[in-house]
Amino acid sequence: MTIFEKIIHREIPAKIVHETDDFIAFHDANPQAPVHVLIVPKRAIPRIGETSEADAELLGRMLLASKEIARKLSVFESGYRLVINHGPDAGESVPHLHIHLLGQRQLQWPPG
Ligand code: 5GP
Repeated sequence: MTIFEKIIHREIPAKIVHETDDFIAFHDANPQAPVHVLIVPKRAIPRIGETSEADAELLGRMLLASKEIARKLSVFESGYRLVINHGPDAGESVPHLHIHLLGQRQLQWPPG
């Protein structure tokens, strides 16, 4: 079971900001910006590169929810970034698909 499944099953605590039947969003334990939330499907899909056509609606719903979360956390106007890390070179550390939502500071481009 991944650490995120444990959060989904309330076996370890997290600061949850949004939840539906299919996904959950909670604050990152090691935030890289004043706002750093992870949007995580409840089904344990390992990573974005292992999704399929069957996941299209779920992925779409997670992306659509990101704008509501951005509004809720007051970064919609100031700006925010969505990040998905796939594999070692991207820095993926938890093998359970998640979208990072980062904001409330000036983010650099290109990313490190
Ligand atoms: P990745 O590097 O896989 O894209 O992102 C994994 C993220 O999960 C990291 O930003 C890390 O800080 C976060 N994380 C790892 N373990 C926990 C945890 O137990 N609770 C929470 N809230 N975040 C975690």
